[in-house]
Amino acid sequence: MKKDGMKILAGNWKMNTTPEEGIALLEGLSNSLTKDTVGEVKVVIAPPTIHLIPMVEKLWENSEIAIAAQNCHYEDSGAFTGEISAKMLLHSEVDAVILGHSERREYYNETDELVALKVKAALKNHLIPIVCVGENLKQRKAGTFLDNTWSQLNIALSGLSSEELNDIVVAYEPIWAIGTGEVATPEQAQEMHCFLRKMLSEKFGNSDLPIIYGGSCKPSNADEIFAQPDVNGGLIGGASLNADDFTSLVKKLNNS
Ligand code: PEP
Repeated sequence: MKKDGMKILAGNWKMNTTPEEGIALLEGLSNSLTKDTVGEVKVVIAPPTIHLIPMVEKLWENSEIAIAAQNCHYEDSGAFTGEISAKMLLHSEVDAVILGHSERREYYNETDELVALKVKAALKNHLIPIVCVGENLKQRKAGTFLDNTWSQLNIALSGLSSEELNDIVVAYEPIWAIGTGEVATPEQAQEMHCFLRKMLSEKFGNSDLPIIYGGSCKPSNADEIFAQPDVNGGLIGGASLNADDFTSLVKKLNNS
């Protein structure tokens, strides 16, 4: 049994759903994710930015689902066309923000140093940063994946105190498993989560933060992954767009 408050299931909708489709999906999830179903799982949904405010308003009466953004800028305001600041998210009652997702690193050249600035901005604005790290296939094959992933995390969290780590969620997402249908084995996930925890303990004196797994996680493969002692839940892409699949994942995590 994992510790209280340490089971998290986050859905990353990426650039999917029109406003109507998004609200319909959220309604489906609100209906199925009752207090009983959710149990001790913290459920987080990260819709496209344009859905954030309507969804926060829609969920006003439902405390079972928290809302996250998929990215933010590190400055509070300024001449950054097309960007959204952590401060704006805070003032929109958003709870969390996904940072450093591999798609943003790959398509928008986000570096570890940029992710670190965003993490600090998120914490300053009382958002929970969900910090994504994970190796690519070349690094996995070369056997350097543990060091590569720790290096990303170490830089992303640089300058934070042990106490500040209490407000961080780490998402281990091997790039070769994201959206590919190829999932890490439960042993591969456990090895990385355990290693990151050990390194966090050595560097920051705090290993008590949730570390969730992401990469083609779905109802058919989740049980064994969630059963791993150092896996605190999942960051779910494709399967979060289906209310039945996502609800099933919440139940599985609650029972893990
Ligand atoms: C993700 O993008 O964070 C992710 C885990 O996607 P998928 O579940 O589709 O692999």
